[in-house]
Amino acid sequence: MSAKIIDGKAFAATVREKVAGHVARLKEEHGLTPGLAVVLVGEDPASQVYVRSKGKATKEAGMLGVEYRLDVDAPQGELLRLIDDLNANPAIHGILVQLPLPSHIDADLVINAIDPAKDVDGFHISNVGLLGTGQKSMVPCTPLGCLMMLRDHHGSLSGMDAVVIGRSNIVGKPMAQLLLGESCTVTIAHSRTKDLPEVVRRADIVVAAVGRPGMVTGDWIKPGATVMDVGINRIDAPEKGEGKTRLVGDCDFDSCAEVAGAITPVPGGVGPMTIACLLANTVTACRRINGLAEPEGLTA
Ligand code: NAD
Repeated sequence: MSAKIIDGKAFAATVREKVAGHVARLKEEHGLTPGLAVVLVGEDPASQVYVRSKGKATKEAGMLGVEYRLDVDAPQGELLRLIDDLNANPAIHGILVQLPLPSHIDADLVINAIDPAKDVDGFHISNVGLLGTGQKSMVPCTPLGCLMMLRDHHGSLSGMDAVVIGRSNIVGKPMAQLLLGESCTVTIAHSRTKDLPEVVRRADIVVAAVGRPGMVTGDWIKPGATVMDVGINRIDAPEKGEGKTRLVGDCDFDSCAEVAGAITPVPGGVGPMTIACLLANTVTACRRINGLAEPEGLTA
Protein backbone atom coordinates (compact mmCIF):
# COMPACT_ATOMS: atom_id res chain seq x y z
CA MET A 1 0.00 0.00 0.00
CA SER A 2 1.43 3.37 -0.95
CA ALA A 3 -1.42 5.86 -0.41
CA LYS A 4 -1.62 8.22 2.54
CA ILE A 5 -4.76 7.44 4.51
CA ILE A 6 -6.81 10.58 5.02
CA ASP A 7 -8.09 10.15 8.57
CA GLY A 8 -11.59 11.63 8.46
CA LYS A 9 -12.24 10.76 12.09
CA ALA A 10 -9.25 12.76 13.31
CA PHE A 11 -10.00 15.62 10.90
CA ALA A 12 -13.64 15.70 12.03
CA ALA A 13 -12.45 15.92 15.65
CA THR A 14 -10.47 19.08 14.80
CA VAL A 15 -13.52 20.59 13.04
CA ARG A 16 -15.70 19.75 16.03
CA GLU A 17 -13.16 21.38 18.34
CA LYS A 18 -13.26 24.52 16.18
CA VAL A 19 -17.06 24.43 16.31
CA ALA A 20 -17.02 24.13 20.10
CA GLY A 21 -14.68 27.16 20.25
CA HIS A 22 -17.05 29.18 18.08
CA VAL A 23 -20.01 28.10 20.22
CA ALA A 24 -18.23 29.19 23.41
CA ARG A 25 -17.36 32.59 21.88
CA LEU A 26 -20.92 33.10 20.62
CA LYS A 27 -22.14 32.54 24.18
CA GLU A 28 -19.54 34.74 25.85
CA GLU A 29 -19.47 37.61 23.38
CA HIS A 30 -23.03 37.67 22.07
CA GLY A 31 -25.16 35.68 24.52
CA LEU A 32 -26.13 33.32 21.67
CA THR A 33 -26.44 29.52 21.70
CA PRO A 34 -26.66 27.95 18.23
CA GLY A 35 -29.74 25.72 18.07
CA LEU A 36 -30.36 22.79 15.73
CA ALA A 37 -33.77 21.15 15.27
CA VAL A 38 -33.81 17.68 13.76
CA VAL A 39 -37.15 16.37 12.52
CA LEU A 40 -37.78 12.67 12.00
CA VAL A 41 -40.99 11.33 10.47
CA GLY A 42 -41.56 7.63 11.08
CA GLU A 43 -39.33 4.98 12.58
CA ASP A 44 -36.83 4.01 9.90
CA PRO A 45 -34.05 2.34 11.96
CA ALA A 46 -31.14 3.89 10.00
CA SER A 47 -32.72 7.36 10.25
CA GLN A 48 -33.20 6.89 14.00
CA VAL A 49 -29.49 6.14 14.38
CA TYR A 50 -28.54 9.23 12.33
CA VAL A 51 -30.90 11.47 14.29
CA ARG A 52 -29.59 10.20 17.64
CA SER A 53 -25.97 10.77 16.65
CA LYS A 54 -26.75 14.25 15.32
CA GLY A 55 -28.48 15.15 18.61
CA LYS A 56 -25.55 13.81 20.66
CA ALA A 57 -22.96 15.70 18.58
CA THR A 58 -24.94 18.94 18.88
CA LYS A 59 -24.97 18.74 22.65
CA GLU A 60 -21.28 17.77 22.84
CA ALA A 61 -20.48 20.95 20.91
CA GLY A 62 -22.38 23.00 23.52
CA MET A 63 -25.29 23.77 21.21
CA LEU A 64 -29.00 23.44 21.74
CA GLY A 65 -30.23 20.25 20.08
CA VAL A 66 -33.96 19.62 19.76
CA GLU A 67 -35.49 16.51 18.28
CA TYR A 68 -39.02 16.29 16.86
CA ARG A 69 -40.55 12.91 16.06
CA LEU A 70 -43.72 12.60 14.01
CA ASP A 71 -45.70 9.42 13.36
CA VAL A 72 -45.04 7.64 10.08
CA ASP A 73 -48.56 8.57 8.93
CA ALA A 74 -48.44 12.19 10.14
CA PRO A 75 -50.15 14.42 7.57
CA GLN A 76 -47.92 16.64 5.43
CA GLY A 77 -49.70 19.71 6.87
CA GLU A 78 -48.53 18.81 10.38
CA LEU A 79 -44.90 18.69 9.22
CA LEU A 80 -45.27 21.99 7.34
CA ARG A 81 -46.77 23.64 10.45
CA LEU A 82 -43.84 22.39 12.54
CA ILE A 83 -41.39 23.84 9.99
CA ASP A 84 -43.25 27.19 10.09
CA ASP A 85 -42.92 27.21 13.89
CA LEU A 86 -39.20 26.38 13.71
CA ASN A 87 -38.64 29.04 11.03
CA ALA A 88 -40.15 31.60 13.43
CA ASN A 89 -38.33 30.32 16.55
CA PRO A 90 -35.36 32.62 17.35
CA ALA A 91 -33.65 29.89 19.43
CA ILE A 92 -33.40 27.64 16.36
CA HIS A 93 -30.76 28.45 13.72
CA GLY A 94 -30.66 25.16 11.85
CA ILE A 95 -33.50 22.90 10.71
CA LEU A 96 -32.84 19.43 9.35
CA VAL A 97 -35.61 17.15 8.12
CA GLN A 98 -34.24 13.62 8.04
CA LEU A 99 -34.64 11.99 4.62
CA PRO A 100 -36.13 9.83 3.23
CA LEU A 101 -39.67 10.95 4.11
CA PRO A 102 -42.68 8.61 3.86
CA SER A 103 -44.12 8.46 0.33
CA HIS A 104 -47.29 10.49 1.14
CA ILE A 105 -45.09 13.52 1.87
CA ASP A 106 -43.66 15.70 -0.91
CA ALA A 107 -40.00 15.97 0.16
CA ASP A 108 -39.23 18.88 -2.21
CA LEU A 109 -42.16 20.88 -0.86
CA VAL A 110 -41.07 20.26 2.71
CA ILE A 111 -37.39 21.12 2.10
CA ASN A 112 -38.38 24.31 0.29
CA ALA A 113 -40.60 25.31 3.22
CA ILE A 114 -37.50 25.63 5.44
CA ASP A 115 -36.17 29.17 5.82
CA PRO A 116 -33.08 29.07 3.50
CA ALA A 117 -31.05 30.82 6.23
CA LYS A 118 -31.79 27.84 8.55
CA ASP A 119 -31.36 25.16 5.86
CA VAL A 120 -28.23 23.55 7.34
CA ASP A 121 -28.47 20.61 4.90
CA GLY A 122 -28.17 23.05 1.98
CA PHE A 123 -30.96 21.33 0.05
CA HIS A 124 -33.34 24.33 -0.32
CA ILE A 125 -33.67 25.44 -3.92
CA SER A 126 -32.32 28.92 -3.00
CA ASN A 127 -29.15 27.44 -1.55
CA VAL A 128 -28.75 25.15 -4.56
CA GLY A 129 -29.01 28.21 -6.82
CA LEU A 130 -26.63 30.29 -4.69
CA LEU A 131 -24.02 27.51 -4.72
CA GLY A 132 -24.45 27.03 -8.48
CA THR A 133 -23.84 30.72 -9.11
CA GLY A 134 -20.85 30.92 -6.76
CA GLN A 135 -22.64 32.98 -4.12
CA LYS A 136 -22.60 32.59 -0.34
CA SER A 137 -24.92 29.68 0.52
CA MET A 138 -25.47 26.87 2.98
CA VAL A 139 -23.42 24.01 1.51
CA PRO A 140 -24.54 20.36 1.83
CA CYS A 141 -22.60 18.69 4.64
CA THR A 142 -21.01 15.69 2.89
CA PRO A 143 -19.53 17.60 -0.06
CA LEU A 144 -18.42 20.37 2.33
CA GLY A 145 -16.59 17.74 4.40
CA CYS A 146 -14.90 16.34 1.27
CA LEU A 147 -13.84 19.82 0.20
CA MET A 148 -12.33 20.60 3.62
CA MET A 149 -10.29 17.38 3.53
CA LEU A 150 -9.16 17.99 -0.06
CA ARG A 151 -8.06 21.53 0.76
CA ASP A 152 -6.25 20.32 3.84
CA HIS A 153 -4.41 17.68 1.82
CA HIS A 154 -3.61 19.68 -1.32
CA GLY A 155 -3.84 23.36 -0.45
CA SER A 156 -4.88 24.73 -3.83
CA LEU A 157 -6.97 22.50 -6.10
CA SER A 158 -6.75 24.91 -9.02
CA GLY A 159 -6.35 23.28 -12.44
CA MET A 160 -6.72 19.71 -11.16
CA ASP A 161 -8.85 17.19 -13.06
CA ALA A 162 -11.68 16.01 -10.83
CA VAL A 163 -14.13 13.21 -11.58
CA VAL A 164 -17.24 12.94 -9.40
CA ILE A 165 -19.01 9.60 -9.79
CA GLY A 166 -22.70 10.06 -8.96
CA ARG A 167 -25.05 12.92 -9.78
CA SER A 168 -27.34 13.02 -6.74
CA ASN A 169 -28.61 16.35 -5.42
CA ILE A 170 -27.21 15.46 -1.99
CA VAL A 171 -23.63 14.59 -2.92
CA GLY A 172 -22.63 14.42 -6.60
CA LYS A 173 -23.99 17.70 -7.98
CA PRO A 174 -23.00 19.98 -5.06
CA MET A 175 -19.57 18.30 -4.91
CA ALA A 176 -19.05 19.09 -8.58
CA GLN A 177 -20.10 22.73 -7.99
CA LEU A 178 -17.65 23.08 -5.11
CA LEU A 179 -14.78 21.63 -7.15
CA LEU A 180 -15.64 23.96 -10.02
CA GLY A 181 -15.53 26.80 -7.49
CA GLU A 182 -11.96 25.67 -6.66
CA SER A 183 -11.08 25.95 -10.39
CA CYS A 184 -10.86 22.20 -10.99
CA THR A 185 -11.78 20.78 -14.40
CA VAL A 186 -14.80 18.76 -13.37
CA THR A 187 -16.44 15.71 -14.93
CA ILE A 188 -19.64 14.30 -13.46
CA ALA A 189 -19.95 10.59 -14.23
CA HIS A 190 -23.07 8.52 -13.60
CA SER A 191 -24.82 5.26 -14.39
CA ARG A 192 -24.97 6.02 -18.13
CA THR A 193 -21.35 7.18 -18.49
CA LYS A 194 -19.50 5.29 -21.22
CA ASP A 195 -16.21 3.64 -20.30
CA LEU A 196 -16.22 4.85 -16.71
CA PRO A 197 -12.79 3.34 -15.85
CA GLU A 198 -11.19 5.38 -18.64
CA VAL A 199 -12.94 8.58 -17.45
CA VAL A 200 -11.78 7.96 -13.87
CA ARG A 201 -8.18 7.27 -15.03
CA ARG A 202 -7.92 10.94 -16.10
CA ALA A 203 -8.65 12.22 -12.61
CA ASP A 204 -6.26 13.81 -10.13
CA ILE A 205 -9.21 13.77 -7.70
CA VAL A 206 -11.85 11.04 -7.66
CA VAL A 207 -15.00 11.42 -5.56
CA ALA A 208 -17.07 8.24 -5.54
CA ALA A 209 -20.71 8.67 -4.42
CA VAL A 210 -22.56 5.77 -5.98
CA GLY A 211 -23.72 3.22 -3.42
CA ARG A 212 -22.04 0.19 -5.04
CA PRO A 213 -19.60 -1.68 -2.80
CA GLY A 214 -16.05 -1.75 -4.14
CA MET A 215 -17.04 -0.65 -7.65
CA VAL A 216 -13.94 1.51 -8.24
CA THR A 217 -10.83 -0.67 -8.41
CA GLY A 218 -7.14 0.22 -8.39
CA ASP A 219 -6.76 -0.20 -12.16
CA TRP A 220 -9.18 2.75 -12.61
CA ILE A 221 -6.97 5.08 -10.58
CA LYS A 222 -4.27 7.35 -11.98
CA PRO A 223 -1.05 6.84 -9.97
CA GLY A 224 -0.88 9.42 -7.20
CA ALA A 225 -4.53 10.52 -7.46
CA THR A 226 -6.58 11.44 -4.40
CA VAL A 227 -9.59 9.21 -3.80
CA MET A 228 -12.53 10.42 -1.68
CA ASP A 229 -14.81 7.47 -1.01
CA VAL A 230 -18.27 8.75 -0.03
CA GLY A 231 -20.08 5.42 -0.38
CA ILE A 232 -21.41 3.66 2.69
CA ASN A 233 -22.47 0.11 1.92
CA ARG A 234 -23.26 -2.71 4.33
CA ILE A 235 -22.12 -6.10 3.11
CA ASP A 236 -22.09 -9.60 4.57
CA ALA A 237 -18.94 -10.40 6.54
CA PRO A 238 -18.91 -14.17 7.14
CA GLU A 239 -15.26 -13.85 8.31
CA LYS A 240 -16.62 -12.02 11.40
CA GLY A 241 -19.10 -14.78 12.15
CA GLU A 242 -22.45 -15.96 10.90
CA GLY A 243 -24.92 -13.21 10.03
CA LYS A 244 -22.32 -10.46 10.62
CA THR A 245 -21.93 -7.46 8.33
CA ARG A 246 -19.41 -4.68 7.79
CA LEU A 247 -19.32 -1.28 6.10
CA VAL A 248 -17.41 -0.71 2.89
CA GLY A 249 -17.14 2.18 0.45
CA ASP A 250 -17.66 2.45 -3.29
CA CYS A 251 -13.91 1.97 -3.81
CA ASP A 252 -12.06 -1.29 -3.37
CA PHE A 253 -9.78 0.03 -0.65
CA ASP A 254 -6.83 -2.34 -0.97
CA SER A 255 -6.36 -2.11 -4.73
CA CYS A 256 -7.03 1.67 -4.84
CA ALA A 257 -4.60 2.30 -1.98
CA GLU A 258 -1.84 0.54 -3.98
CA VAL A 259 -2.06 3.20 -6.70
CA ALA A 260 -3.57 6.35 -5.17
CA GLY A 261 -1.55 9.12 -3.52
CA ALA A 262 -4.17 9.52 -0.81
CA ILE A 263 -7.46 7.83 0.05
CA THR A 264 -10.25 8.08 2.61
CA PRO A 265 -11.16 4.79 4.33
CA VAL A 266 -14.69 3.54 5.02
CA PRO A 267 -15.56 3.72 7.83
CA GLY A 268 -13.56 6.62 9.26
CA GLY A 269 -13.23 8.81 6.16
CA VAL A 270 -15.94 11.05 4.77
CA GLY A 271 -18.67 9.82 7.16
CA PRO A 272 -17.44 11.53 10.37
CA MET A 273 -16.97 14.79 8.45
CA THR A 274 -20.66 14.89 7.51
CA ILE A 275 -21.83 15.38 11.11
CA ALA A 276 -18.93 17.75 11.86
CA CYS A 277 -20.04 19.89 8.90
CA LEU A 278 -23.65 19.85 10.09
CA LEU A 279 -22.41 21.41 13.33
CA ALA A 280 -20.26 23.85 11.35
CA ASN A 281 -23.26 24.86 9.23
CA THR A 282 -25.34 25.45 12.36
CA VAL A 283 -22.69 27.85 13.69
CA THR A 284 -22.54 29.55 10.28
CA ALA A 285 -26.34 29.91 10.20
CA CYS A 286 -26.41 31.32 13.74
CA ARG A 287 -23.76 33.91 12.90
CA ARG A 288 -25.35 34.94 9.60
CA ILE A 289 -28.85 35.22 11.08
CA ASN A 290 -27.41 37.50 13.76
CA GLY A 291 -25.44 39.64 11.30
CA LEU A 292 -22.03 38.41 12.49
CA ALA A 293 -18.90 37.72 10.39
CA GLU A 294 -18.42 34.34 8.73
CA PRO A 295 -16.89 31.74 11.11
CA GLU A 296 -13.28 31.17 10.17
CA GLY A 297 -12.46 27.66 8.90
CA LEU A 298 -16.02 26.36 8.87
CA THR A 299 -17.34 27.43 5.46
CA ALA A 300 -16.68 26.54 1.82
P1 NAD B 1 -27.98 8.16 -5.04
O1 NAD B 1 -28.51 6.77 -5.11
O2 NAD B 1 -28.92 9.30 -4.92
O3 NAD B 1 -27.06 8.43 -6.31
C1 NAD B 1 -26.18 7.46 -6.80
C2 NAD B 1 -25.55 7.96 -8.08
O4 NAD B 1 -24.68 6.95 -8.55
C3 NAD B 1 -26.54 8.27 -9.19
O5 NAD B 1 -26.33 9.56 -9.67
C4 NAD B 1 -26.23 7.23 -10.28
O6 NAD B 1 -26.28 7.80 -11.60
C5 NAD B 1 -24.81 6.83 -9.94
N1 NAD B 1 -24.59 5.44 -10.32
C6 NAD B 1 -25.32 4.36 -10.03
N2 NAD B 1 -24.78 3.25 -10.57
C7 NAD B 1 -23.68 3.65 -11.21
C8 NAD B 1 -22.70 2.97 -11.99
N3 NAD B 1 -22.74 1.67 -12.17
N4 NAD B 1 -21.69 3.70 -12.51
C9 NAD B 1 -21.62 5.03 -12.32
N5 NAD B 1 -22.52 5.72 -11.59
C10 NAD B 1 -23.54 5.04 -11.06
O7 NAD B 1 -26.93 8.12 -3.85
P2 NAD B 1 -26.31 9.29 -2.91
O8 NAD B 1 -27.34 9.75 -1.95
O9 NAD B 1 -25.56 10.27 -3.72
O10 NAD B 1 -25.28 8.39 -2.08
C11 NAD B 1 -24.22 7.71 -2.72
C12 NAD B 1 -23.47 6.87 -1.70
O11 NAD B 1 -22.91 7.75 -0.74
C13 NAD B 1 -24.33 5.88 -0.91
O12 NAD B 1 -23.54 4.76 -0.62
C14 NAD B 1 -24.64 6.63 0.36
O13 NAD B 1 -24.89 5.76 1.45
C15 NAD B 1 -23.37 7.39 0.56
N6 NAD B 1 -23.51 8.62 1.34
C16 NAD B 1 -22.59 8.80 2.31
C17 NAD B 1 -22.63 9.95 3.05
C18 NAD B 1 -21.57 10.16 4.10
O14 NAD B 1 -21.78 10.86 5.06
N7 NAD B 1 -20.40 9.57 3.93
C19 NAD B 1 -23.62 10.92 2.84
C20 NAD B 1 -24.53 10.72 1.81
C21 NAD B 1 -24.45 9.55 1.05
